Amino acid sequence: MVRTNPEFPGVEWINGTGQFIQINEAKCTGCANCVKICLGGCFEIKNKKARIKSLQNCMECMCCSYICEADAIIFNWPKGGTGYKSEWG
Ligand code: SF4
Ligand code: SF4
Repeated sequence: MVRTNPEFPGVEWINGTGQFIQINEAKCTGCANCVKICLGGCFEIKNKKARIKSLQNCMECMCCSYICEADAIIFNWPKGGTGYKSEWG
């Protein structure tokens, strides 16, 4: 199923991505850098640890993984043919 979001024109998501980003809570320091940088609003802080709020608007930019100095974010690409697509490639 294809999903769109009026906040992000020209973008669509193919369902079936699953939880392709995970957080290693043991490593997470709760710095909230991932929350601040994520354009999709995918993270939240609960009990001083980052959690995935929703990956529905994830654009697979990997910024969260790069910004996390604790190396606590595990990013795997969604399975082939699913996830973020844009009309710009
Ligand atoms: S950037 Fe990394 S260490 Fe900081 S809150 Fe997010 S997952 Fe935790
Ligand atoms: S890959 Fe990009 S859009 Fe997806 S959760 Fe990380 S920072 Fe947010």
